[in-house]
Amino acid sequence: MIDPFGRHISYLRVSVTDRCDFRCVYCMAEDMTFLPKSEVLTLEELDRLCSAFVRLGVRKLRLTGGEPLVRRNILSLFRALGRHLESGALDELTLTTNGSQLARYAEELKAAGVRRVNVSLDTLDAAKFTAITRWGKLDQVLDGLAAAQRAGLQVKINTVALRGVNDDEFDRLVEWCGEQGFDLTFIEVMPMGEIGADARLDQYLPLSLVRGALQRRWTLDETDYRTGGPARYYVVRETGGRLGMITPLTHNFCESCNRVRVTCTGTLYMCLGQEDAADLRAPLRLSASDEPLERAIHAAIARKPKGHDFVIDRRHLGPSVGRHMSVTGG
Ligand code: SAM
Ligand code: SF4
Repeated sequence: MIDPFGRHISYLRVSVTDRCDFRCVYCMAEDMTFLPKSEVLTLEELDRLCSAFVRLGVRKLRLTGGEPLVRRNILSLFRALGRHLESGALDELTLTTNGSQLARYAEELKAAGVRRVNVSLDTLDAAKFTAITRWGKLDQVLDGLAAAQRAGLQVKINTVALRGVNDDEFDRLVEWCGEQGFDLTFIEVMPMGEIGADARLDQYLPLSLVRGALQRRWTLDETDYRTGGPARYYVVRETGGRLGMITPLTHNFCESCNRVRVTCTGTLYMCLGQEDAADLRAPLRLSASDEPLERAIHAAIARKPKGHDFVIDRRHLGPSVGRHMSVTGG
C-alpha cells in the first residue's frame, strides 16, 4: 500500500473498543455514551480486518482503544493475530494500555507473541493519578507494570505533558523510568473531542519547553532510534534510558507517516487529525470474501491526506476534530 505522497503504509492501529475503565480528563468527558454492541466489530471481524491489512503489507499492528484489555475475551484476538508473527507476515504485535488489567494479562500477552507494551502513566502521585484518570488507581497500574516486567515484556511509558498538572514530575518520571528499565515518551495534548471549554488551552504544554526543562538536569543525546511511530528519541546519558517526544503541535511529522487507524466500528481513518474516513464494516459484512474489503482499503489509501492541521491557541479553543482519541485509538 503506497499513498499519493509515496509513503508506504506498514503500520495499522486498531481501536478494539471505545469503552474504558478510566475517564482521563484530556481524553474523555465523564459521562460518555458508548456505542451499541451491534455497531462494534466482533473479534472475528477484527481478525479478518487486521489479517486483510497484513496481507496488503502491514508489518506492525497495535491494538488500542478505549482500553483494549477491558474488551471481553480480547486475548483470543491477540492469540489469533499471533499466527501472523509465526508465519513471518507481521514483525510486531503490540498494544497501548492504561495498565489496569496488565496484572491479569501480561503472561498471556507474552505467550500470544507480544514483546512490547505501551503503558500510559502521567503521574507517580496516587492522588494526582486519580484526579487525572477520574476512576483509576495508581497501585493497580504499578502492579500491572510489575507483572509486565516479570512476564518479560518491554515497557514504554507514555506521559501526556499537562501544564500545571504533572509538569513538576518530569524529572522524577525520567529517573523512575531509568531505574525500572522503561523507555519514556512524552506526548503533547491534542485537540480531539469535546472535553469542556478552555480545558485544552489550559493543559497544553509544548514539548520544546519540556525538553528545555529536562536538559537542566539530564544530558539528552540525540539518536536515530525509531520504533515505526512518530516519536523522536534521545538517550538520557545519566540513566541510559530512552526518551521519546511526540510533538504533533510543535513539530509536524506527517511527511514520514506510515500508518492508518481503524475504529472499533470498522471506520478507517487515514489521518488522526482529519475527518475523512472510509467505512470498512459494510464491505466486511457484505461478503464472506475479502475482495470487497481489500478494494475499499486500497481506495481509502489512495486518498490519505498529506497531513493534519492541529492548532491550539486562543482562536482555536474547540477540538480540531470532533471525535475523542478513544474513538480513533491513540
Ligand atoms: N486506554 C489506553 C491508554 O490509555 O493507553 C489506550 C487508548 S488511549 C486513547 C492512547 C493514548 O492516547 C494514551 O497514552 C493517552 O494518554 C493518549 N491521549 C488520549 N487523549 C489524548 C489527547 N487529547 N491528546 C494527546 N494524547 C491523548
Ligand atoms: Fe481510557 Fe486511555 Fe482515554 Fe484514559 S487515555 S480515558 S485510559 S482510553
